Amino acid sequence: MQPEQVIEVLKTVGAIRHGHFELSSGLHSDTYVQCALVLQYPRIAEQISSALAAEFAGLEIGCVVSPALGGVILGHEVARALSAGRPGKGIPAIFVERDKSGTMSLRRGFSIEPGQPVLVVEDVWTTGGSTCEAIHVVESAGGRVVAAGAIIDRSQGRLDLPVRAESLVQLDIKSYETSECPLCAAGGVAVKPGSRFVRAAQ
Ligand SMILES: [Zn+2]
Repeated sequence: MQPEQVIEVLKTVGAIRHGHFELSSGLHSDTYVQCALVLQYPRIAEQISSALAAEFAGLEIGCVVSPALGGVILGHEVARALSAGRPGKGIPAIFVERDKSGTMSLRRGFSIEPGQPVLVVEDVWTTGGSTCEAIHVVESAGGRVVAAGAIIDRSQGRLDLPVRAESLVQLDIKSYETSECPLCAAGGVAVKPGSRFVRAAQ
């Protein structure tokens, strides 16, 4: 998929929202991309994930890891695409999630083999913080992260990952530290996208 096609899909499903948001990175922005709205359609999720998987053609990948919750469906579909033509069970998709203290970890009996080559994927990079945390978890578990991928890179060049990074589309959307947010300066209150966001959008 070309970047224009991905943007067209985002627009078609209403995934690009305008308002005043506090992103999971903690940054504020007037635009939020709700990838769950794209990934809710298995057919579209499959197309986008196949395109992302194709970015890593030729790399040896033994496992796909994604940060929950936003990366779970994407990771699953990317692993499905990477499993095509492979014998046996194919490439597993597992996820890291925050425990009660907020620390990302592997739970649910998921494990990574020593030295296993891992691809980390998530839906959107704003700072790449969740991907960085996932990389750390994988490496602590003995895995070897060979690359990272996202549908959307909205980092505006601030992305600084320690591995090869590929996204399907780079969006030029500003995000701000709270202290520098013009929407906060204008007296607005940022909304954390989530269940409240869904109700507000109706
Ligand atoms: Zn703000």
